[in-house]
Amino acid sequence: MAFIISGQKIIDLRSDTVTQPTPEMREAMARADVGDDVYGEDPTVNRLEEKAAELMGKEAGLFVASGTMGNLAALLSHCDRGDEVILGDQAHTFIYEAGGSAALCGIHPRPVPNQADGAMCLEDIDAAIRPENIHFPRTRLICLENTHNRCSGAVLSVEYTKAVADLAQARNLKLHMDGARIFNAATALGVAASELAAPADSITFCLSKALCVPVGSVLCGSCRFIAEARRIRKMLGGGMRQAGILAAAGLVALEEIVPRLHEDHTRAKKLAAGLRSLPGLTIEPVSTNIVYFHLVPDAAMTDVQFIEELAARNIKIMNIARRRFRAVLHYWIDGEDVNTAIEAFRQVLKT
Ligand SMILES: *Cc1c(COP(=O)(O)O)cnc(C)c1O
Repeated sequence: MAFIISGQKIIDLRSDTVTQPTPEMREAMARADVGDDVYGEDPTVNRLEEKAAELMGKEAGLFVASGTMGNLAALLSHCDRGDEVILGDQAHTFIYEAGGSAALCGIHPRPVPNQADGAMCLEDIDAAIRPENIHFPRTRLICLENTHNRCSGAVLSVEYTKAVADLAQARNLKLHMDGARIFNAATALGVAASELAAPADSITFCLSKALCVPVGSVLCGSCRFIAEARRIRKMLGGGMRQAGILAAAGLVALEEIVPRLHEDHTRAKKLAAGLRSLPGLTIEPVSTNIVYFHLVPDAAMTDVQFIEELAARNIKIMNIARRRFRAVLHYWIDGEDVNTAIEAFRQVLKT
């Protein structure tokens, strides 16, 4: 099922963002009823926003161009300039969103250590909340990430999320969830996504990650919050017109792709087991569709050589940090591709 590019079958494990739309999505996109969404007149966008809100157990949804835009709109809706947001030091919002909260919003990020399981210790969050004092920024918001990309795709539990929400409420703070892969978390835990979203005031999830949609994320929250976020989306240049062409793919994803995510989790475990049997690699725990692994420090190859040797065998993975690599399972990788990939790793590691 892997992609065929220039006649070559490519097993692209770099990310679940490389997923191309399914034939059903392309069909739905071609047939979508559309209108001007800035006027609120795109029926397909409206349907997607309603459906997303329902799945997240929130009052309203807002279709945005990307997860980054969704998180940014959330931060701007919750915070004023000079306010502080507490977030994990491994959070996507802290590391991979080009410093937008500081650069575009004047919001001060306060990183707290992420534990290996993607959580921040409640005591660390509590200690990071600023007392009222003219010297300090005002703490306004806590952000969680579920699943946690840089922490091995780990899953935050409903209980942990509730505990953070209770702390936020007790200290008069808001809670935003970067739920780019919230459906992977829900699948791994066997709970409805709404249960994981319920404790948060707002949540962003990506349609363009494991769900195969070419473009788009949805931000969900209360009607009042989304009304403000809608104005901010316009300010950010994210007011799209006949966006129903994109939203149509999102509706297919929620119907047809979400229910199959467990297959990616099974294949991730299979890939991890295969890699674990090879010398020269150590494998991080696998909770969802993401497999992180390390070349042993004294490996004969450089990281670049490792990537290139695999690429020569049509396997693509991502080099995340020195000796650390990522492979992500998704719709376009089937069981046979996993076997092919393991065999390629075996050859490259010369066993
Ligand atoms: C990808 C990702 C985002 C941002 O989504 P984009 O659509 O790439 O902007 C945010 N958070 C997490 C955890 C992600 O993995």
